[in-house]
Amino acid sequence: MQELRLGGLVPLTTIDFPGRLAAVVFCQGCPWRCGYCQNPHLLPVSTGREVGWGRVRDFLERRRGLLDAVVFSGGEPTAQPALEVALAQVKALGFEVGLHTAGIYPQRLARLLERPSSAGPRVDWIGLDAKGPLERYAAITGVRGAGARFRRSLDLVLESGIAYEVRTTLYDGATPQELIGWARWLADCGVRRYAWQARRGADRRDDRPGGLDEIAPWRRASRELVPWFEHFEFRTAV
Ligand code: SF4
Repeated sequence: MQELRLGGLVPLTTIDFPGRLAAVVFCQGCPWRCGYCQNPHLLPVSTGREVGWGRVRDFLERRRGLLDAVVFSGGEPTAQPALEVALAQVKALGFEVGLHTAGIYPQRLARLLERPSSAGPRVDWIGLDAKGPLERYAAITGVRGAGARFRRSLDLVLESGIAYEVRTTLYDGATPQELIGWARWLADCGVRRYAWQARRGADRRDDRPGGLDEIAPWRRASRELVPWFEHFEFRTAV
């Protein structure tokens, strides 16, 4: 099997897996095309400049005892069949595993969320992107049927019993009222840990959601969400 293709590595982070010191590996490739994607260089399946998984695994071996966890982010990690082997190798090194996903491949996600009888879960924490109202998914991601894929993945995450956070990035054209409705829908589905994220980037001073000039109405709107979740966060930089 082809080895996991990576577009980059952050050797230490405290924010990508709550409560853990972690390294983040950025998986190459994603079939969706969200207009606000922060990592467009990770979208092609291959760039010819990937970081080899073997090199990263050697690095992680040297970090044993210094890091708690490894987070697989992207791109879309579940786009690569080689992910499962990489997760197992990370577990064997003694790290916990975090997974950032948009829920693009629910069947693969279902397998990753299984608990093999001989061991603990393959994944210890999941950050699941909830792009926006289901009827907006195709417009946000550029892919028809994307909302149904997310919907299935959301159910899988909630049924798995694995720790998670669901998060929505404020996107161009969204209104606070629309995303309040989306948050209500997620809460009714059983989501208990949720976040709104304003985009990071050079355009943060413009008048779009996430721009500094426009953050206040979103922050005000977010207060309505607080009672609906066990934990809700409004993040202004991701
Ligand atoms: S799903 Fe994530 S990685 Fe893929 S295009 Fe959207 S924001 Fe970027």
